[in-house]
Amino acid sequence: MNGAFFVILHSIETAMSEEKSLNFLEEIVEADLASGKSVNIHTRFPPEPNGYLHIGHAKSICLNFGLADKYKGKTNLRFDDTNPVTEDTEYVESIKQDVRWLGFDWEEEHYASDNFNQLYAFAVELIKKGLAYVDDLTAEQIAATKGTPTEPGKESPHRDRTTEENLQLFEEMKNGKYQDGEKVLRAKIDLSSPNMHMRDPIMYRIKKTSHHRTGDTWCIYPMYDFAHGQSDSIENISHSICTLEFEVHRPLYNWYIEQLGIFHSRQFEFARLNLTYTVMSKRKLLQLVQEKMVDGWDDPRMPTISGLRRRGYTPASLRNFCDRIGVQRRENIIDVGLLEFCVREDLNKTALRRMVVLDPIKLVIKNYPEGKSEILQGENNPELEDNGGYRDLHFGRELWIEAEDFMEDPAKKWFRLAPGMKVRLKSAYIVSCTGFVKNEAGKVVEVHCEYIPESKSGNDTSGINVKGTIHWISINKSLEAEVRLYERLFQVEDPSSEEGDYKTYLNPSSLAIIQHAKIEQSLSEAKPGEQFQFIRKGYFTLDSKYAKKGKLVFNRTVTLKDAWSKEVKK
Ligand code: ATP
Ligand code: MG
Repeated sequence: MNGAFFVILHSIETAMSEEKSLNFLEEIVEADLASGKSVNIHTRFPPEPNGYLHIGHAKSICLNFGLADKYKGKTNLRFDDTNPVTEDTEYVESIKQDVRWLGFDWEEEHYASDNFNQLYAFAVELIKKGLAYVDDLTAEQIAATKGTPTEPGKESPHRDRTTEENLQLFEEMKNGKYQDGEKVLRAKIDLSSPNMHMRDPIMYRIKKTSHHRTGDTWCIYPMYDFAHGQSDSIENISHSICTLEFEVHRPLYNWYIEQLGIFHSRQFEFARLNLTYTVMSKRKLLQLVQEKMVDGWDDPRMPTISGLRRRGYTPASLRNFCDRIGVQRRENIIDVGLLEFCVREDLNKTALRRMVVLDPIKLVIKNYPEGKSEILQGENNPELEDNGGYRDLHFGRELWIEAEDFMEDPAKKWFRLAPGMKVRLKSAYIVSCTGFVKNEAGKVVEVHCEYIPESKSGNDTSGINVKGTIHWISINKSLEAEVRLYERLFQVEDPSSEEGDYKTYLNPSSLAIIQHAKIEQSLSEAKPGEQFQFIRKGYFTLDSKYAKKGKLVFNRTVTLKDAWSKEVKK
């Protein structure tokens, strides 16, 4: 990454401090308001509709909307749609959905393409001022004659065309007289500038491609640099916030605005968000989708907003994450553990507790009468007032429990089931293990126990203390569902900086599918977007894509274990 400096933020002070001082952008805004340089704060979020938004965009969204919100300003949503080749309305729709889902609503919706007429007129104005010319060199020839940071570039033989000739050629470019690459419009600035972006940059190129909004009206399209600042200006954006790689473009941003004498928006840069164990560029994410390495842009392992939503992340947890990481001026990479920490913290407060058995074996309660059953009460969420209410739990003689909760020869400090040992069945009774049955292959298929009738949860008069509690489901009343467990998409912290193709670092076991998990009946009513804690197993949500097909598939959002906060508290 251009030798940029990377730090992994583990520090509790940086990420978890409650009292926040102003970030550098807030300081700028406060100073501008105090000095009268800005009267109204107006920001914009300017995605190019060439892919789905990812968590890095969420940072930019929270920053732009957050700043305007804090200083009673406005934020526009602007689609930076100047490259018809890679852009599509599918992306426009997904971007709008994701911004809204994150909890933000824009003041005005704009498209750079709405300004194509105005931008064309600006270009003509610069030609008339002798500040732009049509060049016949190809993009490759232009790059090859641009020089190096220490050596000046070479003038094009077409640099000194007359204004009349330039106006005519530019109009002919617009009218489709030339083919792609035959001509470009360049700004006439300074071929010996130490800033390569000031060496007569390209303003317009020919692309005979249909645009998703303007169709075939145009066959010349403005470059990002010529469109962005002018669009900011047209919308009266006071603070145009972008990522660090645009810092070197800032002189050009200012040059266009100043030569045109239009409203002076100002550009400020911050460090993009990078996250461990994933890639964040849309180009790479698109590759994963196209090469079917993942199940679409919203695959629950993707760092896209739609992927995180399908995985069970909440808008609050993403906003909270963006808030905690803050705004830096230096490149860094954030531990994905912090993101997991934020969602766990949110879900702990809101997710309904349910019992699900992933790898079932049968538990038979020998002293519980055959044919008898009872309805017990399970708390919905102990973090909530009155436990969030209660749900019915069907209890009977035969239950499913996790195979891993029984051990034939218990290890030391084993507090779950083993011959002669007692555990509590969550929200039910204490049972004591009396035996087990193996199949021909020697695998335990059934565990036997006796229950202690006086030990009922909430009304326990048995006086018996047990150390372990396990979850269970009544065999008679259980349903089945598929459960998907996700791990990190990549095996290395920063796949983009490793040698060779980043795709070779994909984690081959990033998805484990459990086809026949046993679930509580109440879970058959689950809806996508509702979060559950499967007791002792993690946080889960119903998969939205399979729900549409009427199939019950639960995605694990995150495990219960909190490795990150332990690490930072060390
Ligand atoms: P990518 O490189 O992933 O394709 P991009 O910068 O080309 O991203 P845009 O659609 O142009 O994507 O970005 C819209 C806005 O979001 C821009 O202001 C951009 O600076 C910001 N942004 C993009 N990626 C990140 C990131 N990782 N962290 C913070 N802001 C980001
Ligand atoms: Mg971009």
